[in-house]
Amino acid sequence: MKIISDDRLGPFFDSLAQTWELRLPILLPDGSRVISSPGDAPPALLGGAVLSKPTAAFFPQQGTIFTTSKEGLKEPAAPERPLFVLGFTPRDLACLRFIDRFFADGRSDDIYFRQRQHAVVAGLSGYCGPNGALIPPAGGDCDLEFFRYEGNWLVIPYSEAGRSIIAALPGSVPPEAVALYRQAALTPPDENERLLRRASELLRANRVPDSFWGEIGDRCIACTGCNLSCPTCTCFGVQDWRSAKQVERSRMWDSCQLDGFMREASGHNPLGSEALRTRRRIHHKLAADPEKWGEISCFLCGRCDVVCPTGIGIIAVSRELVARFG
Ligand code: SF4
Ligand code: SF4
Repeated sequence: MKIISDDRLGPFFDSLAQTWELRLPILLPDGSRVISSPGDAPPALLGGAVLSKPTAAFFPQQGTIFTTSKEGLKEPAAPERPLFVLGFTPRDLACLRFIDRFFADGRSDDIYFRQRQHAVVAGLSGYCGPNGALIPPAGGDCDLEFFRYEGNWLVIPYSEAGRSIIAALPGSVPPEAVALYRQAALTPPDENERLLRRASELLRANRVPDSFWGEIGDRCIACTGCNLSCPTCTCFGVQDWRSAKQVERSRMWDSCQLDGFMREASGHNPLGSEALRTRRRIHHKLAADPEKWGEISCFLCGRCDVVCPTGIGIIAVSRELVARFG
């Protein structure tokens, strides 16, 4: 464990940038924060989870699968330098762990792992949440964890790569900082975890009638914000872009709240109503994924509840569902 003060972070990031392609939370001119290349924008490590999908570092909104031309078929080259991505909260890290497993299942997704494979991932926790609120530490699921305390960051390595990156950092860690970290790690589980587990049980026991999804689905305006911000939503569409010289096949995020998501070439649509689409979005995370993967695939990052303009993010829906049926 090492310690680094705010004023030493800049030189630390500069030294990392010699080897790694850096991605950090940065402040955009509109006041929002995203995990991106530092460029000219100031780093913005405080404030909790960034609103945009953090797993986009490895699974971008649009990515080339291949291009084809008279010269033949070409896949994108491997990145010249590995990524160093800082800014995942512990809940985001749980999402990343989940999609790492998802993309490795069966035929491993080479486009995802081209970026992910050699990347170093660093989490953010401690007193760096909104207005300085405590984010309980992850205690793993990453190479390094930056834990905020009193204007400093404790830096805890969990992998060989993490250990070697901070080996040169000076300073011994005061015992009270270690004690604070250990105490924060004992934070009891969020009440919403119990809520989600109960909603999952009710769905899996078929205790939720279709009429409920009719009511909830009526409130969806298909803006796609829930899916496009969710770190564990992995559905994508494929599109070919044609120019005089080549065709580029790329993939881009899709949304199960869109009418055309499952529509077949015949015109038949197995998800032909907002009720069915909304049911699927929630059911997938709370019932289908637990059956396939042994765990709920929502890790309560909170994004879909923040971005949904009509108040039907997963926590809001689970709360209503448990209040009425459970
Ligand atoms: S809270 Fe919403 S956005 Fe976050 S993991 Fe769960 S479903 Fe996805
Ligand atoms: S964010 Fe809300 S309104 Fe938008 S697509 Fe998702 S559920 Fe529908």
